[in-house]
Amino acid sequence: MASRILVPWALAESGREVLKKSRLRVTYLHGPAGELPKLEELVQAVKEADVVLPRGGQPVPREVLAANPALRGVANHGVGYDNVDVVSATELGVPVTNTPEILTETTADLAWALLMATARKIPQTHNLTVSGRFTGPVGHPFMGMDIGPGGSNLPKVLGIIGFGRIGRAVMRRSKGFKMKVIAYDPPLREMIEKTPGVEYRELHDLLKESDFVTIHCPLTKETHHLIGRNELELLKPTAILINASRGPVVDEVALVSVLKEKRIFGAGLDVYEKEPQLAPGLAELDNVVLLPHIGSLTQDTRNQMAIVAAKNAVAMARKKKPRNLVNPEVLTRPEYLQKVSS
Ligand code: NAD
Repeated sequence: MASRILVPWALAESGREVLKKSRLRVTYLHGPAGELPKLEELVQAVKEADVVLPRGGQPVPREVLAANPALRGVANHGVGYDNVDVVSATELGVPVTNTPEILTETTADLAWALLMATARKIPQTHNLTVSGRFTGPVGHPFMGMDIGPGGSNLPKVLGIIGFGRIGRAVMRRSKGFKMKVIAYDPPLREMIEKTPGVEYRELHDLLKESDFVTIHCPLTKETHHLIGRNELELLKPTAILINASRGPVVDEVALVSVLKEKRIFGAGLDVYEKEPQLAPGLAELDNVVLLPHIGSLTQDTRNQMAIVAAKNAVAMARKKKPRNLVNPEVLTRPEYLQKVSS
């Protein structure tokens, strides 16, 4: 019997084409406007599937993975895979893949746009202009922060937390702004120290020294609330915090109170702790720029992500080793070997 791929969301046409050409059986499960299925529906549907291709952020807990002992792949659409219980997947012999690299530049663009928009209060001044309140010189409430060296010709310090693909792409953008770059990423300390123009800092030193802090680490047990109240209080009063990684890396309630008290200049966020909900009070602040998780949301990049996720799904459905495996240790597990040998 041909393998079955379950796609429980509205995958882009480019990915559907790949799946169609594979001639494998594909089931789409979502509402007419792309609504995601409920967990119970996903659990039921996965029983009939060999591989599941979820959207980034769509929860794939153990309950789903364990619902079908023959499941042999989760092809996640997204580079972050904190939505998938990878520990359980490995235990159960299920390979998990992601879609790295193709979204690096697009997400770095967005983080940089957020940094500039927050520093120069772009949405706030746009709102002022379109609402007819631009009636003369615009004053203090809209005073911005320099990104480049500014009138005093002092380079700004950019602190990058997570010096992986996206973090390094943000570093490249900073070069045009003559910034000093410091970075914190314990597994990559040596690489940072060898990178021209970048200096390694421990987290607290980075927070104290930076004019801009931008977060690009994955969400893991270790990075949950990596930036809490104590860390936020280390920031300069003129500092700007950018988060285009995952919401729970920052304690959002603590961030709201720090912003309310004007202890920092501002924050630009693309991601939230309890997406799509925002922490109480966040949306009312005048020193934030808030985006609805659009880091990789461009036509070209989303089309490529759909193709890569679909190719990974097809490889796993055909019992082949996929590219972009995030749990390679699964390949030697008896549970996996049994699935691919039968
Ligand atoms: P990557 O794996 O290349 O880089 C992540 C880096 O974080 C690694 O170098 C890793 O060593 C480092 N890291 C891990 N734990 C750390 C810690 N405790 N402190 C500091 N650094 C730590 O991943 P990437 O492709 O650069 O993507 C990074 C993250 O960005 C993804 O995991 C995803 O959650 C997020 N993302 C968000 C969007 C969006 O739409 N906003 C889009 C793409 C990616």
